[in-house]
Amino acid sequence: MYRMASYDEPLLNELPQTDAKTGGKPPLPETLRRDRLDIPRLDERSLVRHYIHLSQMNYGVDTGIYPLGSCTMKYNPRLGERLAGRHRMTMLHPHQDASTVQGILEILHRLKQMLCAITGMHAFSLQPAAGAHGEFTGMLIARAYHERHGEQRSEVILPDSAHGTNPASAKMAGYDVVEISSREGRVDLDALREALSEDTAAFMLTNPNTLGVFERDILEIADMVKKAGALLYYDGANLNAIMGKARPGDMGFDIVHLNPHKTFATPHGGGGPGAGPVGVTTELEPYLPVPRVARDGDGYTWSYGHPYSIGHVSHFYGNVPVLLKTYAYLLRMGAGLQHVAEQAVLNANYLLSRLDSRWYTLPYPGRRMHEFVVSAEPLKERGVRALDLAKRLLDYGLHPPTMYFPLIVPEALMVEPTESESRASLDAYAEALNHIAAEEPELLQRAPQRTPVTRIDEAKAARTPLLTWRDIEEQQ
Ligand SMILES: *Cc1c(COP(=O)(O)O)cnc(C)c1O
Repeated sequence: MYRMASYDEPLLNELPQTDAKTGGKPPLPETLRRDRLDIPRLDERSLVRHYIHLSQMNYGVDTGIYPLGSCTMKYNPRLGERLAGRHRMTMLHPHQDASTVQGILEILHRLKQMLCAITGMHAFSLQPAAGAHGEFTGMLIARAYHERHGEQRSEVILPDSAHGTNPASAKMAGYDVVEISSREGRVDLDALREALSEDTAAFMLTNPNTLGVFERDILEIADMVKKAGALLYYDGANLNAIMGKARPGDMGFDIVHLNPHKTFATPHGGGGPGAGPVGVTTELEPYLPVPRVARDGDGYTWSYGHPYSIGHVSHFYGNVPVLLKTYAYLLRMGAGLQHVAEQAVLNANYLLSRLDSRWYTLPYPGRRMHEFVVSAEPLKERGVRALDLAKRLLDYGLHPPTMYFPLIVPEALMVEPTESESRASLDAYAEALNHIAAEEPELLQRAPQRTPVTRIDEAKAARTPLLTWRDIEEQQ
């Protein structure tokens, strides 16, 4: 039986403080010295124990399966951390002259070439700092492109299965968002045809989409979008199902962003760290952000001279440690990247096949790609919601799937086991979900019980977050 460690862990400044010893005169001028620095005074042992306690009251991908659909929490090889943590890496400074950082420039240059090969795009920018940031960059590129061609296009079209960041990014770039409905879990071609006009700047699409379904009409979609004079945008946050197999560039996409932190192994969650490289066709290359890593004789340099560039979208050159991990992962995988895609798809379909279809129904028939969405609606008549199932999974020491997304599926559970789970772990997950579905509703509604934090008031937590000591003091 699973039970998570639980400590009544005080805050750092509530722990017994050690005596402050300055150890002689601090080497600071008198004018800069303070009598007292208002931070906790703790010895190393207390500090280490504090953080170990907190980590034991947490759950991560190193604890167990973490099948968060769309977010892709896969196991991340330690190799990447070792490389990114090396002294020679951490001591790099973005203001260094290019001649002194040839090594990392070469890595970034080669990484761009790898991403071009994987996606079938012509050129990449490594600057954006997350998927959503990549989308925003892509939308700015679309705007710059249309403006240079003397066109004022004000709309971006999205399917109703789109990730929430898509409409947000389009809106932030100044576009009006037009949502079209899906048909049988795919883009409704008639709805798209109707929505396209000379006002359309771009159509944003995820393929496979967030239901885990491949948009098999993609070539026809690309044709329609092109004929309307608009651009086709690929949300490649999650490339796990198709990498090494199919390329967005070959499907007719003009702009692509990738999430290395979901696809190419970087531990993420809680808001970071990430990157959002953006790839474009030959036609759109002039608009990519600056500076760009470029060849310079035998070496590499930063190039700024691109008059049509949308400019900087990030401080310096992007999230270099994440990009370094991406490079290491790709080198290590090589052609094995195809195997990752195959295993990711197999794992998702295997897990799906093991779920009890009395409780977990599949909204549209057919095989899925790297993830699937089931509806837990049949349990509603017993008063059980997807949320209750998710909370109860915690009592089994398993991380829940993504819930209530995409919005077009009621009581949605969106499961992405990833390629890194074993068959035993998939079996255990399916058994837990099937077992939970038959448990007493009251038990589920009270779950979780075996975690240090039990059922919380989600609405209150979202509306009145108390995240810092200052918040708590103000509250009191
Ligand atoms: C995660 C995700 C994004 C956003 O990426 P962030 O790095 O979290 O900003 C966009 N689209 C899809 C489909 C995603 O899964």
